[in-house]
Amino acid sequence: MKVFVTCDMEGISGVPSWFAGSDKNPNYFEGRELMTADVNAVIAAAFDSGADAVCVRDAHGSAQNLLATKLDSRAQLISGWASPARMCSGIDGSFGAVVLAGYHARAGTADGLMCHTMTRAIRNVRINGVLLGEIGVSATHAGHYGVPVVAMSGDEAACREARDLMPWVSTAATKWALGRESARMLPPAQAREKIAEAVREGLANVGKAKPFAFDAPLRVEIEFTELTDAARWELLPNATRVDAYIVVFEVPDGEQVAVLLGLVD
Ligand SMILES: [Zn+2]
Repeated sequence: MKVFVTCDMEGISGVPSWFAGSDKNPNYFEGRELMTADVNAVIAAAFDSGADAVCVRDAHGSAQNLLATKLDSRAQLISGWASPARMCSGIDGSFGAVVLAGYHARAGTADGLMCHTMTRAIRNVRINGVLLGEIGVSATHAGHYGVPVVAMSGDEAACREARDLMPWVSTAATKWALGRESARMLPPAQAREKIAEAVREGLANVGKAKPFAFDAPLRVEIEFTELTDAARWELLPNATRVDAYIVVFEVPDGEQVAVLLGLVD
């Protein structure tokens, strides 16, 4: 089986804030090292569980955070952005399972560490009425190819969000938010053991995990933070502005959800 790993940085163990998670800040190099180490724990656990191949999608910021020379040499790395579908771009139906590493809760989660949905320009996203953040959008994109999410790592609020959407997902909570950019955290070495355990459990459960999918066409409701963005997006051909801040689109499938949201900045 081929395993697709998509990794963000806000949910990486040992990263409490954007001080380590943003390439504009001084602790960023440490953030890259921690991200690479968490992902290596995922890769090793996947091979321990019988994976034949692992492909890692760097999905944070520039998408060039993982340290290629320190990444487990059994895995392939997708680095840099190509498709606007972003966080799962590179996935296709040849994969058997997805692992979300270092993910965070959706915008507006009271106890979500560094919670947001794609960009600060978005306040909320609903698909067919269901509130989704990046966990749900990635799962919807993978679901389009029939590939289930089986495991996830991140802060406790992100893990809860994943389980609420997909009860079969094995989660590894490695930190607990005390504020938007403050957390109580497991030591990274312990966190990586917990992550590996969740990945092994998730991959043992592949047969029971379901691809995350909605009935087509999908109604994508984007609630913007600023009125000016709603006013711009309403001008697109199949847009309907249903509220001062909310513009609705109808798209044919789960991949188009990721493409549409990836175009917002
Ligand atoms: Zn993110």
